[in-house]
Order: sequence, then structure tokens, then C-alpha cells
Amino acid sequence: LLMAYDPAKRLARLNIQLQASLVGVEMLYALLDRKPAIEEAEDAVPLKVGAGRVRLRNIRFRYGRKAPALDGLELIAEGGKVTALVGPSGAGKSTVFALIERFYDPDHGNVLIDGQNLRGVTFESLRRNIAYVAQDAFLFEGTVAENIRMGRLDATEEEIRAAAKAANAHAFIMAMPRGYETELGENGATLSGGERQRIAIARAMLRGAPILLLDEPTSALDAEAEAAVGEALARLMKGRTTIVIAHRLATVRHADMIHVIEGGKVVESGSHGELREAGGLYSRLYDLQFRD
Ligand code: ATP
Repeated sequence: LLMAYDPAKRLARLNIQLQASLVGVEMLYALLDRKPAIEEAEDAVPLKVGAGRVRLRNIRFRYGRKAPALDGLELIAEGGKVTALVGPSGAGKSTVFALIERFYDPDHGNVLIDGQNLRGVTFESLRRNIAYVAQDAFLFEGTVAENIRMGRLDATEEEIRAAAKAANAHAFIMAMPRGYETELGENGATLSGGERQRIAIARAMLRGAPILLLDEPTSALDAEAEAAVGEALARLMKGRTTIVIAHRLATVRHADMIHVIEGGKVVESGSHGELREAGGLYSRLYDLQFRD
């Protein structure tokens, strides 16, 4: 089932969801009979995150023998700021995330966090410092509390509730028949898109990582759900370095920096106002994608 649809991408997503769990990434790959694309350096040291500045320097990367997905990409996400990535489908936005999480190493160039090359850091420290919120939260069969605990396995009940409250999820959880002990998944309760997102945000809250990768859902929520999710996200992003693949108008408008990616490189950078004024690709995408 996993291998049926875009295996590497699916695997990458699953991998992110499992990163906090006891099941190591290596074991996951072994289960799926695949070798990890990269291995930890023998002299790897823990990543030390200060400001949380992420830099991709002169990146070239291709999947197997395909044409390069990234080619000459330069990108900086300043510590504590919100950096939005926009661009047409297939431009390379998800691949930027995959390299920051080191599911792959670039063929050329380096990814640096606070000046440390990811090739030299331990996987464990990298995963501890990065949280990923996917477009569509992966929920597994188990209780609501267990689903949130995926963010950090040693979290207490108290911490799980605090994370759910911060993620605007506590009220709808308490409204379910068995609250935090309600079973989710195949034969359990089903959640709306906005509720799933808030569970994913609660997980990320619980992890407390200083660097946040956020893949915004493309599908629109109703106004009420949008407000609840937006507020939860704003709380999550506070004080962290956020890199967001942006699909919402509010996100691009409020981003500290927008990088427009096309054909595997950054073709324009600036604030929403600056890029609108420049009248380039961003302006055309904006009219197509973000404007109602
Ligand atoms: P979208 O907005 O549609 O998600 P994107 O900007 O995130 O697109 P990527 O998913 O990074 O773009 O894809 C960049 C290029 O790399 C595309 O040509 C895509 O087909 C290819 N690609 C992405 N993931 C894989 C993969 N796992 N294996 C092979 N090729 C891939």
C-alpha cells in the first residue's frame, strides 16, 4: 500500500510522523525493505540550535536519474522569522523540506542550520529540533491522547492537554464521547479537516522544536475552522523559525520573507508588497492562487 503512490514522498511523510517514536527511521526502512538514502557520519555531533537560521547553499539535487529537482538553489530562512515558499507545482518546494530534514543529501552544495552542515550532525538531534506539520495530519488507530503523544513520547497527560489547549483542540476533544480516550482511526471517531490539523499542531507544540516546517493544506476550510487553525498556528510559530509552503493568502501577506521557487531555484525574494510591486512571477501566481 505504501509503495503504491509516490513511494519516496509517502515514506518521507510517514518517516516524519514516526520520527519521535521508538521505531527508528532505520527500522522503518528495514520494514519496507529499503535502504536509507543517507547514513549518519561516524563522527556526527549533536546539532546545536541557537537563532535557528536555516541556509541552503548552492544546492543541486536530483532524484535518481531524473532531471534535477533543485538546481542552483540558494535560500535563507532567518531565525525566528516566517519564510514562505511559493511556486508552481513541481517547482521543488517539498524537496527543500526533504533536504532540511535530511532525507537526502544534496548532490552539490550544503544545508546549514546555524552554520552547522547537516552532513555532520546526528539524526536524533536533527529530528529533535525540527517539527513538521503536514498538509493532511496522519492519524493512526489509537486514542486522541496517543495520537498527540506522537510529538514526544515521554510527554505527561498534563503536557498533552496543554499542547491541545494551545492548538485550539481541547474543546472539541472534550466534546467527544470519551474525551482524550476516544479511539480514532479506521473504526473510531472521524475528525474534520480542521480538527485533524489541530491535532497535528498539538503534536508539534508538544515536540517544542525550534524549527518548524509547515505544509499548508491546499483545500480551504470554512471560516470558523480557518480562524481556529490560524490562531493555533500563530501560537505554534511564535518564537520559532518557520518555513511554510504557503497556500493561504494570510500567510504570504504576513510572512517576513517570501521565496518564489521555479524550476528548482529561487527566482524572486521579498515581502508580499515588494513582490507585488515587482510584477513578476509572484504577482502572476498571486492572482491565480491566492486571490479569491
Ligand atoms: P507541489 O506543489 O506539486 O507539491 P513542489 O514544488 O513541492 O510541488 P517537488 O515535490 O519538490 O515540487 O518536486 C520537484 C521535482 O522533483 C518534480 O519534478 C517532481 O516530479 C520530482 N520529485 C519529487 N519527489 C520525488 C520523488 N520522491 N521521486 C522522484 N521524483 C520526485
